[in-house]
Amino acid sequence: MPTAISHFIGGQLAAGTATRHAPVFNPATGEETGRVALANAADVNAAVAAAKAVARDWALTTPLRRARILNAFLRIAEERTDELAALITAEHGKVLSDARGEIQRGLEVVEFATGIPQLLKGEVTENVGTRVDSHSLRQPLGVVAGITPFNFPVMVPMWMFPVALACGNCFVLKPSERDPSASLLVAAWLKEAGLPDGVFTVVQGDKEAVDALLHHPDIAAVSFVGSTPIARTIYATATANGKRAQCLGGAKNHMIVMPDADLDQAVDALMGAAYGSAGERCMAISVAVPVGEKTADALVAKLIPKVRALKVGPGTDPEAEMGPLVTRAHRDKVSGYIDAGVAQGADLLVDGRGLSLQGYEDGFFLGGSLFDRVTPEMSIYREEIFGPVLAITRAPDYATAAKLINDHEFGNGTAIFTRDGDAAREFAHAIEVGMVGINVPIPVPMAFHSFGGWKASLFGDHHMHGPEGVRFYTRLKTITTRWPTGIRAGADFVMPTME
Ligand code: NAD
Repeated sequence: MPTAISHFIGGQLAAGTATRHAPVFNPATGEETGRVALANAADVNAAVAAAKAVARDWALTTPLRRARILNAFLRIAEERTDELAALITAEHGKVLSDARGEIQRGLEVVEFATGIPQLLKGEVTENVGTRVDSHSLRQPLGVVAGITPFNFPVMVPMWMFPVALACGNCFVLKPSERDPSASLLVAAWLKEAGLPDGVFTVVQGDKEAVDALLHHPDIAAVSFVGSTPIARTIYATATANGKRAQCLGGAKNHMIVMPDADLDQAVDALMGAAYGSAGERCMAISVAVPVGEKTADALVAKLIPKVRALKVGPGTDPEAEMGPLVTRAHRDKVSGYIDAGVAQGADLLVDGRGLSLQGYEDGFFLGGSLFDRVTPEMSIYREEIFGPVLAITRAPDYATAAKLINDHEFGNGTAIFTRDGDAAREFAHAIEVGMVGINVPIPVPMAFHSFGGWKASLFGDHHMHGPEGVRFYTRLKTITTRWPTGIRAGADFVMPTME
């Protein structure tokens, strides 16, 4: 019997009033383990009302007190990481070690947010004019919403809510309907840590819930992470409704391998970056660009046996390097891309299709696939596959390799493997991508820096967490002060100037 998965409103689980539900699967077994409620507009209204009712009190709670609650949450989450990791693996499918890693990267943002008393310190200038002083401060926005994807059910919400809450906002999370349970455990732990009811809310749902949030007058800002078409639409709708928005989209991350690179290091980096989490990462490397035929031949020769030897299994198997894909439909979509690559003339060197694991025949598994001689007009080059498929696109020289990246629609992450400082510096300086790695395959910024791509990988002006997160979740106010001894007699009708 599938478990009923509900909302978390006003500090407690709430079934809501909607009649629509979505199935939640264990991707390793294919079994339907849960049924998640899909909120309607009335449910969203109830959630936002519960948040709004406490928004003023939370905004007035001192930053130090807010930081202490986040610290208490951090301790709980660190002690019980395995419980949360098991929940991620059960609904997402990723291997447990990877689930723990995602939690750790998320908790680093919580750690960052506990520094909020320091982060919110404003600016003061004494004597902007004679006996006139100015200070600038940042105030919370009110109730803000986060809409998150399936691939990091804990880390991506944690890119958002720790900073939002620390800044004094109430946060309404609409997690992915494919792996919704982790968000409820996070909500329970925040409550246990002392967060007042209503400050953190979870509304489960799909487009209907998102539309209700985007049109709700009491939602001041929207943070979104997901695929590019949805990110683009959500940005347009949210901003048209007067909301601040940051909408992160899809990716097609390239890794250039220069002739002077340490090839064994580059191969190991590619294996983890392309096939880790079954390629379901927005920072996964999906295109390797070896420079020169000799580099390409050597790279391919080293990759083939490693891709063939990938250990695919249920996420609970400690030996597994790669788990299943999230749903049957997604597995079939990725498989369809492999069909398309073959039909369009790429060389399929390792074929991951049709993998069946004994005892897990109904799981959504796919082996690792490797394509060579992929060209820019092919759909497997242009589009995000979001699965364990690595494409090799050969380039004759560095300039061609860099142009491939700059010409691509997406600009989330990229990397170069080289020992040449000049090439590396030129790459870092000129490449049109938001997050760049030099001999680092997945350059996900740490919590105290900010995360975000360029081009069709991000709509909006602010990246997530770090200093950009604080700016996104606060409004700047500048106060100019003069006391009676500084005030001249008589009315001034000209534009005020200072001297
Ligand atoms: P998705 O776009 O299908 O869904 C993301 C969220 O949007 C979910 O909460 C979903 O319920 C909601 N949604 C889906 N369709 C909607 C619609 N028509 N209207 C309103 N809301 C809708 O993405 P996904 O499949 O869950 O996640 C994978 C995608 O996320 C990939 O494209 C990946 O690159 C991207 N991603 C990007 C980043 C980044 O930082 N740029 C990080 C993680 C994932």
